[in-house]
Amino acid sequence: MQRTVLVTGGAKGIGNACANLFLQAGHRVAVTYRNHDVPSELVDKGVMAIKCDVSQSEQISEAFSRVEQAFGPVEILVANAGMTKDTLMLRMSESAWDDVIQTNLTSAYHLSKLALAKMVKGHWGRIIYISSVVAQMGMPGQSNYGASKAGLIGLARSLAREVASRSVTVNVIAPGAVDTDMLNILGEERVKLMVDQIPMQRAATPDDVAAAVGFLASEEAGYITGVVLPVDGGLAMGF
Ligand code: NAP
Repeated sequence: MQRTVLVTGGAKGIGNACANLFLQAGHRVAVTYRNHDVPSELVDKGVMAIKCDVSQSEQISEAFSRVEQAFGPVEILVANAGMTKDTLMLRMSESAWDDVIQTNLTSAYHLSKLALAKMVKGHWGRIIYISSVVAQMGMPGQSNYGASKAGLIGLARSLAREVASRSVTVNVIAPGAVDTDMLNILGEERVKLMVDQIPMQRAATPDDVAAAVGFLASEEAGYITGVVLPVDGGLAMGF
């Protein structure tokens, strides 16, 4: 069945892989972008690209209006846009804390609230948050990021209980190291140290993560809600 999908941060990395996967599955796909443009191959294939800074609630509302006008209510929401502002706690400014929480966690509240109204009415919906292994394992220098990503887990589990009876599922993906700009900005040496810890001895590809998103969004995953699905090559197993 063709569904309307909204992926935030869909211009590159994991979001872009998700957009491609949903497009190939024949869905109506809208993606938000901020600084990087959505690749023309996607737009040419009918993907709706909407400029939206997810840290601004009015821009999220505007994005929803545009998707709903063009494609109808959002049935699959992938809250993927995210950022880091890494530093040790003693040096962390309040703005580094606020920016990361606003972008990674508060955006999920706004996005979910707008999506849910229609999902509940339509008795079908999929909400998927892109969290991180850092939510459960922690990482020095990432207390703001870890808190935002752990917040997504608490948000998902409470929301999952609120809307399960309406056939709306709310789940979390927890990637480990994924070969995108967000990882590679750390530099070759730190990436190698991280990859050495991964049982599979490699970073994930964005497609590895998108495959898990596609599964949780599928009709077949309709009885799975409130889970945290690691896509981490075994990095956080047992946490
Ligand atoms: P990425 O290529 O850097 O993508 C991040 C995306 O988020 C970009 O499209 C970026 O848009 C968007 N974004 C950031 N702040 C935004 C804002 N305020 N408003 C709108 N869009 C914003 O990295 P990625 O790895 O694909 O990241 C996707 C998600 O995976 C993130 O939530 C990240 O925390 C999570 N994750 C990544 C890893 C990893 O190792 N890469 C591991 C665990 C979890 P612009 O660039 O246009 O600003």
